[in-house]
Amino acid sequence: MNAWDIAVIGGGASGLMAAIAAKKEAPGLRVAILERGERCGRKLLSTGNGRCNLTNLRAAEGGYHGGADLALSVIRRFPPEAVLGEFARLGLRTEVEDERRVYPLCGQAAAVLDVLRLACLEAGVEEICSFDVVKLVPRGEGFAISARDGRTLTARRAIVCAGGMAAPKIGGTDAGCALLGSLGHALVPRRPALTQIETDPMAVRALKGLRFSGGAALIVDGRPVREERGEILFSDAGLSGIAVMQLSREAGDALRRGRRVEVSLRLLPDGGSLLGDLRARRDRFAQREAAEFLTGLVAKRIGQQLCKAAGIAPLSRACGTISEEELRQLSALLCDWRLQVRGVRGFDGAQVTAGGADTRGFSPETLESKTARGLYAAGEVLDVDGDCGGYNLQWAWASGMLAGHSAAASLRAR
Ligand SMILES: Cc1cc2nc3c(=O)[nH]c(=O)nc-3n(C[C@H](O)[C@H](O)[C@H](O)COP(=O)(O)OP(=O)(O)OC[C@H]3O[C@@H](n4cnc5c(N)ncnc54)[C@H](O)[C@@H]3O)c2cc1C
Repeated sequence: MNAWDIAVIGGGASGLMAAIAAKKEAPGLRVAILERGERCGRKLLSTGNGRCNLTNLRAAEGGYHGGADLALSVIRRFPPEAVLGEFARLGLRTEVEDERRVYPLCGQAAAVLDVLRLACLEAGVEEICSFDVVKLVPRGEGFAISARDGRTLTARRAIVCAGGMAAPKIGGTDAGCALLGSLGHALVPRRPALTQIETDPMAVRALKGLRFSGGAALIVDGRPVREERGEILFSDAGLSGIAVMQLSREAGDALRRGRRVEVSLRLLPDGGSLLGDLRARRDRFAQREAAEFLTGLVAKRIGQQLCKAAGIAPLSRACGTISEEELRQLSALLCDWRLQVRGVRGFDGAQVTAGGADTRGFSPETLESKTARGLYAAGEVLDVDGDCGGYNLQWAWASGMLAGHSAAASLRAR
């Protein structure tokens, strides 16, 4: 059988949800998922460090970039509560953790994928794997769809859910944009987002693997443009961790515009008393080596790096010899440690793609294309990216639900 009512191109988060929504709307329709990988949902297994942060209860308030207006209008129709209701219907129990992030209660991303695949199977959705769609052309009432290996099929409706370019090793590709572009859709340049920030490696190499909870601000041409709090991690080439990754989209865009970009790390809150505290510390531990001056305040290796940056050398000096100027430098560094940004890591290290098919080419009511009738799109292939913390999967579920429901309703209405 190669004539379908609805073909969903891409069996990731949005595609699986779109197929389930289509069958829920019109159980009699023949729905197929065309997936280029050997199995559906490979990327889902890696989400949330294998635990899948499947939504965020604050997602309807904001946290989206690119086509944020369209994203929020879709998410307000299918908010996190509706997504969780649907997952509960599919048999998944969830729990809410810090910052309103939601995870499966069993702590396994595989459980999210399993309930989606079981629902597809039970609803009669056909999963056609190793089907790498390379051509999508209007034919008659619908579309002719061709795979790289020469197989072809037809569908009265096509929903493009082929995701974005992030994490190519687990399925990231630009193929979805190529398909939508071939049908006349404008494409916003794709860039990596939620990725590591690369700094001068010499400034961070000795700190590789250390993490702390604090603040990170993005400074462009000397002006702070965004500040985040949370976990910050030192890597061999720069900085990672949720707080830093949230800054990477704007850091990359500013660098591409030729701006001077820095990250300011806030290891300790100032509160006005820090310099006085450091003075008291110098007097109390006057006999200690300067290498231990900040021990107990921040991680030891970070403390030593800051002492060096404040000009305290050699570190074998006694704390009692630290000058007033050196103390002032240290106090400033603890609240505002500036690191020059050299770049952001590419798609291989990114969690999401910024850019994609311009959302203005799609109806916010249905996610149907304004240029090709019967064509729909959902998920990361569209120019929508969200903050870290469940926002991107929330977008994938909500847009998949809307596109699947709309495509099926358009056939039922006839
Ligand atoms: C490491 C990592 C961790 C993440 N953790 C989280 C998290 O905890 N919470 C969160 O909200 N977000 C997270 N994300 C982001 C989230 O996974 C994505 O935003 C989401 O999966 C996008 O869903 P999608 O359906 O648009 O695309 P995908 O889930 O990427 O699915 C697209 C599918 O389409 C298939 N495909 C592509 N091209 C073709 C073609 N030509 N023919 C047929 N099939 C095709 C792909 O093989 C893939 O299976 C994470 C991302 C990564 C990389």
